[in-house]
Amino acid sequence: MDSLRAAFSGTLLTPHDHAYEDARAVFNSAIDTRPAVIAQCDNTADVREALAYAQRAGMPVAVRSGGHSVAGASLVQDGLVLDMRRMNAVSISPDARSAVVGGGATWAAFDQAVQPLGVATTGGRVSTTGVAGLTLGGGSGWLERKYGLACDDLLAVDLVLADGRTVTASETEHPDLFWALHGGGGNFGVATSFTFRLHPLPEFSFALMLWPAGEGEAPIRAYREFAESAPEEIGGGALFLTGPPEEFVPAELVGKLCCGILVTYMGKADDLPALIAPLTALNPRTAVVTDIPYAVFQSMLDAPSGFRNYWSGEYLRSLPDEAVHAFCAASARMITPSPSQQGMIPWGGAVARNAADWPMANRDTPWVAHPLGLWADPADDHRARDWARHVKDVLAPWTTGAVYLNFIGDEGADRVIAGYGRQNYDRLAGIKAEYDPGNVFNLWHNIVPRKPAVNA
Ligand SMILES: Cc1cc2nc3c(=O)[nH]c(=O)nc-3n(C[C@H](O)[C@H](O)[C@H](O)COP(=O)(O)OP(=O)(O)OC[C@H]3O[C@@H](n4cnc5c(N)ncnc54)[C@H](O)[C@@H]3O)c2cc1C
Repeated sequence: MDSLRAAFSGTLLTPHDHAYEDARAVFNSAIDTRPAVIAQCDNTADVREALAYAQRAGMPVAVRSGGHSVAGASLVQDGLVLDMRRMNAVSISPDARSAVVGGGATWAAFDQAVQPLGVATTGGRVSTTGVAGLTLGGGSGWLERKYGLACDDLLAVDLVLADGRTVTASETEHPDLFWALHGGGGNFGVATSFTFRLHPLPEFSFALMLWPAGEGEAPIRAYREFAESAPEEIGGGALFLTGPPEEFVPAELVGKLCCGILVTYMGKADDLPALIAPLTALNPRTAVVTDIPYAVFQSMLDAPSGFRNYWSGEYLRSLPDEAVHAFCAASARMITPSPSQQGMIPWGGAVARNAADWPMANRDTPWVAHPLGLWADPADDHRARDWARHVKDVLAPWTTGAVYLNFIGDEGADRVIAGYGRQNYDRLAGIKAEYDPGNVFNLWHNIVPRKPAVNA
């Protein structure tokens, strides 16, 4: 490794180093992968050097930003991890219409930098996820019904390719690669920076209502009617969760399985009571309505680290009463108390607009079902995973078969193909053959390089 040390300005960690254990920890505590080298990169030159070294040494390569891949795709056993977290600067254009963010930043860094200017882009639903992994895999967040997925606001991505070349992908430069980066994940290279379009977001507010889980069906049916006709400034979701020990939660719901309806609004809280009247009419045991800066809201829902994780994201064709019933009944199998959640998220609006233009399949789905399993005890591994799979199974009559790949682990090649649809997958495979023919970047839902057949 001496040749790399001589050329590398960041920090190289091996299992002998004190800082190694912390550096290899990821969000999902069930992941125990031990890389041979963690290369904490300071700049693009470091990325190129470490990548070239790994290839010379025949080591597999992983790329890590926020470390939130529940499947642990940002670590690789006995390989080299390109740890991008130090490359986390955010710079905003003078007119506040765009921002450039380093390839290792979290959404906390991004939102906190742009929020004071009253602007935002669609990030995720919490602040601790990496901008890179979330955006390259699509990026679903509170602002999506107005502004689309996180990847839709990309103006450019700077990448180091497998062969060490640095390129910028945008609508005018490497447009095929740019298309692929709208959901194709970490398959195509190491993103060293992203340029995002920014939108005005001077005001933000939310309403949160809670019911005992057993009363969840009526509010979720009402929420379905509400969300399917709501203005695009409205986001949120229906959730089953453990009642948190917060002041606004009545004692009888604390620690118990609850049904929650969260309504986010890109406007003032004063407008919310009238908008959510059909929901508050259903006797929630608590209803909080408040203005809040968007960046503060983003970190309010941060999931705790140190738990074992198993997640999914299934697209639904529709959400009839029978599906609501099945969804509610499945929540009884959730481990409670725990930070697990069983969510039903409305899409539509800007997520669905021009859905066919992008690599991800089924962007026009009206609803996405998310069993998000977090539990502490390895003895609960089976029970927690069974619940998440059960949610998927009971909703099968209404699901499309496609899946939001950012939320799942390795479920086989067919699930990856379903995530894009055959035609888009084949196009992605052709782009992969051009930019990463040796399949160096293969840990995140691998798109296997394949040149399109040439007609004789
Ligand atoms: C608590 C939690 C909340 C979540 N919330 C949301 C949400 O609201 N919306 C949503 O859409 N998803 C969400 N996710 C899923 C999340 O988007 C994916 O797990 C995503 O891969 C995480 O990105 P990361 O950078 O944090 O992860 P990492 O584990 O660091 O990276 C995951 C993969 O992304 C790729 N990658 C990372 N950095 C780079 C880079 N610089 N260049 C090239 N490739 C790179 C690599 O292939 C890597 O294997 C959430 C996950 C968790 C655990």
